[in-house]
Amino acid sequence: MRYSYEEMHALSINDPERFWAAEAEKLHWFKRWDKVLDDSRSPFFRWFSGGETNLCYNAVDRHALGPRGEKPAIIWESPETGGSRTITFRELYGLVNRCAAVLKSRGVKRGDRVLIYMPMVPEALVAVLACARIGAIHSVVFAGFSYESLADRINDSSPKLVICADGGVRKGKAIPLKQIVDRALAAAQVEVPHVIVLDRGLGKGWRTDRRRDLSWEEELERVGPAQVEPERMLSTDPSYILYTSGTTAKPKGVVRDTGGYMVALHASMWQIYGCGPDDIYWSTSDIGWVVGHSYIIYGPLLFGIPTVVFEGTPDSPNPGIWWEVVEKHKVTVIFSAPTAMRMLRKFPSQWIEEHDLSSLRHIFLAGEPLDEPTYHWAREALQKPIIDHYWQTESGWPMITNHMGLETLPVKPGSPTREAMGWHLEVVDERGEPLPAGTRGYLVARPPLPPGALMTIWGDDEKYLESYWTRFKQHGKLLYLTGDYAIKDEDGYFWLLGRADEVINVAGHRLGTREVEEVVSSHPQVAEVSAIGVADEVKGEALAVFVVLKKGVDESEGLRQEVIGLIREKIGAIAAPKILKIVPQLPKTRSGKVMRRVLRALCEERELGDISTIEDGASVEEIRRGLEAMGHKV
Ligand code: AMP
Repeated sequence: MRYSYEEMHALSINDPERFWAAEAEKLHWFKRWDKVLDDSRSPFFRWFSGGETNLCYNAVDRHALGPRGEKPAIIWESPETGGSRTITFRELYGLVNRCAAVLKSRGVKRGDRVLIYMPMVPEALVAVLACARIGAIHSVVFAGFSYESLADRINDSSPKLVICADGGVRKGKAIPLKQIVDRALAAAQVEVPHVIVLDRGLGKGWRTDRRRDLSWEEELERVGPAQVEPERMLSTDPSYILYTSGTTAKPKGVVRDTGGYMVALHASMWQIYGCGPDDIYWSTSDIGWVVGHSYIIYGPLLFGIPTVVFEGTPDSPNPGIWWEVVEKHKVTVIFSAPTAMRMLRKFPSQWIEEHDLSSLRHIFLAGEPLDEPTYHWAREALQKPIIDHYWQTESGWPMITNHMGLETLPVKPGSPTREAMGWHLEVVDERGEPLPAGTRGYLVARPPLPPGALMTIWGDDEKYLESYWTRFKQHGKLLYLTGDYAIKDEDGYFWLLGRADEVINVAGHRLGTREVEEVVSSHPQVAEVSAIGVADEVKGEALAVFVVLKKGVDESEGLRQEVIGLIREKIGAIAAPKILKIVPQLPKTRSGKVMRRVLRALCEERELGDISTIEDGASVEEIRRGLEAMGHKV
């Protein structure tokens, strides 16, 4: 019998223990749990307490030693280097065992941290899985972060070992990763005894410290075809630390458990992504982000299906490269971000049309609001269902989504649909009181958080409580603060309006910056837009809007006036921007999120703060010059 979405979701909320136990049964446990949910120390929820399992065993051994052994596990495509490689589950098993043996022989023990600073290469996945195998806590840092960011993360997690590559390549430009690691280690306050370096022939002279620096290849060679027993981890043991992207405050080390995460990801693969045993899954993200952890590494592999690992960008060597990969490997599900769609939208559709995309069933997008025009463009250009879904580094997997493996609900463009299993979300006012449908407010989750959500902040339980659990209470129960502003409509669909700290107050009127962005992006000549609130002596706050035009469209006063007219017409005169600037590009983090605090600082003529996570430093200079031309001294 097939349950409706309503029934399934109600079960997951009313009887979470029964719901999640049924999903956990599908995976391997060395020892069964004593209790599905231990909420005795709420809001520190512990899933499958007393249970013993291993993420690597479930993601690799279970398939490698069974009938799927000869099936591909990793499909690697690197337009950046011309590389292409397929690794079966059995081969992956061999590599992970060797790497685990290396880590052990270099003194890494259960509970120790290992920092991984690698580009999108198969060895990065091998390193992550090897950590999981021996119970070491991995901390993957996006291999694009500066040495300062890396040093901060080294100080915070004090790793026993660092694994990196000599270099990476981005749009043909070599990035000297090992040099960055050297600088970070010199700047860090903790000693790291060993650095293992994957030599890709991209950075000469990477061995800068004879005692500390080891070669990946030599180390794997040294241990030979080793076998390492997977550690029996408690379900409630931490599996990794991942620092939040830092669009707003100082990055926090989100800590994930073992068993709950495994169960949630495995369930999401069929419930949300609609996958079966023959799917080929491609998340275009990076292993350095939560999407990469969950859906480049663990999700597909736990489910026993191939994961595509792509080293490159959507427009290089040409804007058809993604569709070429889909055609070549018969990819069935893509998980990407709206920012990539907006980038591809700038190019003629011929780049898509010339490829056979018949294998592809769904395209999922997450990470930022999917505005309606981009949704419609993608829907039309790709002729596939486009599924917007919402989640956070903290949640580990989607919180609001449509479910392709359960009852699929009608799409409302602009809304990521309804709550995922186990997520009980609400929109509340300043005092934590639930708001009626159609009213804007703070998006919160009622406890318990489902499996897979963060356990705490690394080394800082207080910070966990303070960041997520202190603001709202309902009937004596604390509520989890997502930090987002939203509306729930009459059909139970959620509409995200931007980060709560981006809700601005113009002369007493509350405006979500997302609403303004939505209106501006509906202009046919606009490719991208970011709206922010800036301090204003008269109104308290005022709007500043930054617009990127489509390729081939020239800036003109007429166009500026059209955009302003559109905002006035659709939202009202109160939203008429104080600053409206047409810019060549927006300052973004390397995960594709607009760095609003940088835009705000530029407008308010303040210090920019740490911008080491920025994608392209030139964007800041261009905007600075533009604002100066408008009479701002910045
Ligand atoms: P991160 O933790 O870096 O993945 O960022 C999470 C934040 O991204 C969320 O709190 C939202 O503000 C935003 N976000 C993610 N997915 C969506 C989506 N589908 N629609 C709107 N905002 C989103």
